Amino acid sequence: MPAVMLLFIGGEWSPAASGKTFAVLDPRTGQEVFRVAEADKEDVDRAVAAARRAFDEGEWSRMSGKQRGKVLLKLAQLIEDNADEMAAIESLDNGKPLVMSKIADIPLSADHFRYYAGWADKLHGKTIPCDNTFGKASRAAQWLPFFAYTLHEPIGVVGQIIPWNFPLLMLAWKVAPALAAGNTIVLKPAEQTPLNALRFAELCAEAGVPNGAINILPGFGPTAGAAICRHPGVDKLAFTGSTEVGRLVMKEASERIVPVTLELGGKSALIIDKHVDVDKAVEDAHFALFFNHGQCCAAGSRTYVHADIYDEFVAKAAARAQRRVVGDPFEEGVEQGPQVDQDQLNKILAYIDVGQREGARMLCGGKRRGDAGYFVEPTVFADVTDQMKIAQEEIFGPVQSILKYHTTEEVIARANKSEYGLASGIISNDVGFVNTVSRSLKAGTVWVNCYNVYDSAVPFGGYRLSGVGRDKGEYALENYTQVKAVYQSLEPNQP
Ligand code: NAD
Repeated sequence: MPAVMLLFIGGEWSPAASGKTFAVLDPRTGQEVFRVAEADKEDVDRAVAAARRAFDEGEWSRMSGKQRGKVLLKLAQLIEDNADEMAAIESLDNGKPLVMSKIADIPLSADHFRYYAGWADKLHGKTIPCDNTFGKASRAAQWLPFFAYTLHEPIGVVGQIIPWNFPLLMLAWKVAPALAAGNTIVLKPAEQTPLNALRFAELCAEAGVPNGAINILPGFGPTAGAAICRHPGVDKLAFTGSTEVGRLVMKEASERIVPVTLELGGKSALIIDKHVDVDKAVEDAHFALFFNHGQCCAAGSRTYVHADIYDEFVAKAAARAQRRVVGDPFEEGVEQGPQVDQDQLNKILAYIDVGQREGARMLCGGKRRGDAGYFVEPTVFADVTDQMKIAQEEIFGPVQSILKYHTTEEVIARANKSEYGLASGIISNDVGFVNTVSRSLKAGTVWVNCYNVYDSAVPFGGYRLSGVGRDKGEYALENYTQVKAVYQSLEPNQP
């Protein structure tokens, strides 16, 4: 890759029209490690034109599903062939431990392309028998046979905007189903983590994705992101990020009446029953919150614990957090690297301050670690109440909030009181409890005796302020297809 990484437009590397570049920082040190061309409106115009051409000329959109599937399989293989390099890029860019990039981000991304490769030749419609009412009326009793069938067509040029917490995986969730269905793409990665999206662009060229079918534009939200949302040549918008920005994206989509899918924030409840192995529950809850440094939309950030085991759980949760190994993500044994940037560091420290001022009991952590980079001590608050800000707002950091409950009805009501509804979890050995609670929770995912399991085939998305639509699985294909109904007369042609 060149010293300044460029935009990927129409199958070629191109500087930004403005000539501007921006810095990519190493979150371990805050030092600049790369410069990347900064896309803005003019570049979005060029990218949309390239995607439009690629779509209209049909090299990708009218390629057979089998052929598209082969290209997606090749992409999956190329990601796997370059897994070590891509894992290192991910950890450098985002700060996550190399081991997690290697066992989670990169293989899950490859798997996503493989999964949707399998769908590319199965996007067929239905044949539907028709009742010919008008025919009967106009031709007396004569029966005129019709049938109808549906076609699942690609929508066109898709604008996709993604966040920084799982840079390659969020790209895979968006790109794989869109390409499988035959759409062309203009994608903006997050400004904090553009590197693997650019590496991925190189793999697309190698795999045989036609020029213009995918365009990658690193840049900032209010400029490049907003230009994608507003562009009249973009036929569909797909966004993952904060609820605040999701609202803006939806407003733009409503102006132009284009379909939009939104994967937004969360404040997910993890409910721990009294009938559990407390040590295992502590470990599960720790993983639910601290995975990816707490930078997960689905993080189990409200840990509800039954009063009967509360004191034991709290003591053990704090001890577990204190044992969490924080350090350089490239060192073996490290569980938690730096947060992604200075803004996130500041935001997390501010929430820790608010938690203390609101009267939650801080058991460990609470401070920045060191004075270089963006490290935060794993922090545990007990005696959190539903009214506290730390129980209501997304912290997106390594801060566990533990709340006490007494009855099943009470905890269901409290869990559902959030304005979000992304994910949730239940730890219990009581099947009745599991069944009652899982059916009562207003959340797009319920993990039972597990957390953070993400299979490509299983849909993911939110209720309420957590979003609209579903990524992943068969469901995500609906985001990227139009259904066309074709009625056809079976009447023989008259001579
Ligand atoms: P963010 O909303 O600040 O940014 C997300 C993306 O939107 C970035 O690419 C950014 O540049 C872009 N953006 C910002 N302003 C924009 C604008 N005006 N117009 C168009 N695009 C704009 O979110 P973030 O801080 O990068 O990510 C964290 C958020 O993402 C959290 O709220 C988290 O819960 C959410 N998230 C949700 C899911 C999910 O699947 N539901 C997955 C990962 C992250």
